[in-house]
Amino acid sequence: MQMTKFKTLDDLGDITGKVALVRVDLNLPMHEGSASDVTRVEAARPTILELTGKGAKVLLLAHFGRPKGQRSSVLSTSMVQGDVERVLGKEIMFIPEVAGPVAQQAIGILGNGDIGLMDNVRFWPGEEANDPQFAASIAALGDFYVNDAFSAAHRAHATTEGLAHLLPAYAGRAMEAELTALDAALGNPQKPVAAVVGGAKVSTKLAVLENLVGKVQHLIIGGGMANTFLAARGVNVGKSLCEHDLTDTVNRIMDEADRAGCTVHLPYDVVVAKEFAANPPSLRICNVHEVAADEMILDIGPLAVETLGDVLKTCRTLVWNGPLGAFETPPFDAATMALARIAAALTQEGSLVSVAGGGDTVAALAQAGVAGEMTYVSTAGGAFLEWMEGRELPGVAALSK
Ligand code: ADP
Ligand code: MG
Repeated sequence: MQMTKFKTLDDLGDITGKVALVRVDLNLPMHEGSASDVTRVEAARPTILELTGKGAKVLLLAHFGRPKGQRSSVLSTSMVQGDVERVLGKEIMFIPEVAGPVAQQAIGILGNGDIGLMDNVRFWPGEEANDPQFAASIAALGDFYVNDAFSAAHRAHATTEGLAHLLPAYAGRAMEAELTALDAALGNPQKPVAAVVGGAKVSTKLAVLENLVGKVQHLIIGGGMANTFLAARGVNVGKSLCEHDLTDTVNRIMDEADRAGCTVHLPYDVVVAKEFAANPPSLRICNVHEVAADEMILDIGPLAVETLGDVLKTCRTLVWNGPLGAFETPPFDAATMALARIAAALTQEGSLVSVAGGGDTVAALAQAGVAGEMTYVSTAGGAFLEWMEGRELPGVAALSK
């Protein structure tokens, strides 16, 4: 995806007393009535506080769970009001609507620099339907629109896409940082570029692989996906997680890579065991051609990691999605931890721009203690993967019109 031009908060003039409609991601994981992780609120904090600091009245728009177009008390955004207040260090006003006279009245009470939290936008079917009338009723409340929810940008919904057509539209600071990082990784990267694609299954990441072979110079395959690639090359992978029916697909991807001048790196050594458990007695490291019929490949081997480290040393850019092994269970985290540390060190030395994303990938980098040492770690999940597939994200496209 090419870097698209979009307006940022730097392009705002005097916004004192203006009403900002700000789309954020407040879809927080909950545990016993409060959020177990407030990373998403922290990501939106700079944008919110910058706008309130400049005297705007900020109306937060967000979805929370999947209420399917109906009100539901447990899916009200009021569930996270306390968490948002704690992260922002400010009291906010909950508004149980997203449009209409009650919302208008509430906004009338807000002073400059105050914050209102609107209810779950998905309580109204017009949100997911991207109904222009619904979007217009929300737009009527505000003077301008800020989208700071990259993680929802792969959805063309009223508050992620529709509003951008109805009001002056700006990318928030988190959105701006995400788009800048993603552009540096695949849009307009310094070459050579390496991509690490790991995780459980090839079938969930086919579109990612197909996009990457035409864009990167080195495609590093790890995780369960590597088993499928190895099997397609005629290697006996024993009892490993493997999609044997994808042989033709894998061979086609390898051919495309060949034509595009992309080197595909498969491991030559692997970590195997007869049972999937922590530190099993049957654990051993072997060449990929020596896997026994009753063994499973659960990580790539130390020789492979060493070679991949050498590859990364020759690269200027790295984009990473998916762990190299079953990293939740020791010692099958070893390769992921080792390569993550190499990537982090190269990033810190200034020789590598490193961008990573994906639920398990973020967890694995945190486990390696290097999440803060990469250039950028995206927590956007689905939107990150769609971006890796080279697809245009509607929420981003609408900001760039
Ligand atoms: P992400 O969430 O970062 O996109 P995925 O969900 O695609 O990553 O894959 C992560 C999962 O893949 C992890 O649960 C990990 O245990 C699993 N996995 C990685 N390698 C293997 C393997 N060799 N065998 C079985 N599972 C694996
Ligand atoms: Mg996952």
